[in-house]
Order: sequence, then structure tokens, then C-alpha cells
Amino acid sequence: MKRGFPGEGMAAEVKGENRKDLIIAIDGPAGAGKSTVARSLSRRLHLPYLDTGAMYRALTLKALRQRLDLEDGPGLAEMARGTDMRGEYRRGMRPPYRFFLDGEDVTAAIRSREVSAHVSQVSSHPEVRREMVRKQRACAQEGGLVAEGRDVGTVVFPRADFKFFITASLKERARRRYREMRREGYPVTLKAVEQEMLRRDHLDSTRKVNPLRRAPDAVVIDTTGMSVSQVVSEILGVVGSGREETRVPRR
Ligand code: C5P
Repeated sequence: MKRGFPGEGMAAEVKGENRKDLIIAIDGPAGAGKSTVARSLSRRLHLPYLDTGAMYRALTLKALRQRLDLEDGPGLAEMARGTDMRGEYRRGMRPPYRFFLDGEDVTAAIRSREVSAHVSQVSSHPEVRREMVRKQRACAQEGGLVAEGRDVGTVVFPRADFKFFITASLKERARRRYREMRREGYPVTLKAVEQEMLRRDHLDSTRKVNPLRRAPDAVVIDTTGMSVSQVVSEILGVVGSGREETRVPRR
């Protein structure tokens, strides 16, 4: 079995796979490090990156701006249908991965506390999820990708080639999100971040439709005490080896 930390040329070595249509699904709770890891993987494997959380956040931002009723699932889904959401790398920008809502760069706006406080409510509606899953699957029509979220391995891409469930202790997740938010200039306290995280975890894992759940065939990685490069290395080790027990047969 091939393990270790492969170099940039890694993608070409992924056994038996045309890397262009390789789908890697990464799920896990808030602040587990999914985004950093998924972005790094997408660059290393030269695959597009799909941030499904950013999509739910962008939809929430639009709904808040338009003062829509956040309990109106069909209305929100209707709005989602007519909304353009996409992520793109832009060289020289900080952070380089930018998210666009109907053409507007909303990278910072979708991380606001107001959006974080309402996104679980918006994403709990079955009608909204149906529409968002349709949009997310459409992103894979032209090839593979690295997708991250709460239900990408269970619902969006149940036949992904590789599935990972990334987690970490609540304390560590809160610390990471706190540091990230302070870096971006948000005046938050560690306690507030931890409480918000607990609340979101609870809502996301107890909702009726597509709750946060580990796919039975996902590889679990507890990132507590691990660096990003250690996690990426571990995932690349699994992907590079095409480990039989982790591969989901495509039917
Ligand atoms: O990943 P992130 O923390 O940005 O996700 C924001 C929120 O979007 C989650 O708390 C969850 O309510 C929702 N979400 C979801 N399904 C996904 C991704 C995110 O319901 N696949």
C-alpha cells in the first residue's frame, strides 16, 4: 500500500482512475478543517473544488437581504432556482478562493455572524435541499471534483470514488474557527464561537432531511492535534493507494 506524502505529481499516480473524473467527498461538522483540506487537495489533484456550505451561505445571504421568510421552504427553493452561485480561484486575492452570488463577490459577506446564525434554518428545508443538490450534481457533469459539506458523501455523491469524514474535538474546532475569524477581522470571542458551533452542529445533525451523518463507507479522520498537511497527506495516501476497502464501486 502506498502511503506517505506524495508530491505535486501525485494525481497522475492515482491507480486505475482517470483523475479528471475522480470524485472525492468530504463531510464533517463545522470547523473540522474541511475547507482548508479540501482546497489543498483540489490544488494537489488539479480537480475543481465545490464548497457546498458556501452555496447554502450565499442563499441565506440573499434571503436575508430580500427579507424573505426563512420558514418558507418552497419560496426559498424558488429563489435558489433563479440564483447563480459559483466559486473560483483568483490569483493574487486573499483568500484566493472567491465565491460569487449572481456575479457579486460575497466571499466575506457569507461568513458574517448573521449568515452563520441563519444558514442552518435555510438549509433545513427539503425543497431547498432538493434544488441545491441538483445544482451541486450539475457541477460534476463536466468531470471530477473535491466536494465538501455535510451530505456530499451520503446524498449528493453517494457513488463518490473516495469519501472522508473529517472531525475534531469541539474545543479545537472552536479555536480554529475563532482564529480564522479574528484573522479576517471579525470581533468575536472564543466562547461565542463555541456556542454558535454547538448550536449549528445540533441543528445540522438533527434535521429531518439529509442530516450531517458519516457515510458508512467513509474514512474517518480525527484532525485534533493534526496539521493541515498531515491530514492532506493522509488523504492523498488513501487516494493514491486506491485502498480497496475505501473504494466505492461505480455501478
Ligand atoms: O461548511 P459551512 O460551515 O460553511 O456550512 C454552513 C452551513 O450550511 C452548515 O452549518 C449547514 O447548515 C449548511 N450545509 C448543509 N449541507 C451541506 C453544507 C452545508 O446543510 N452540504
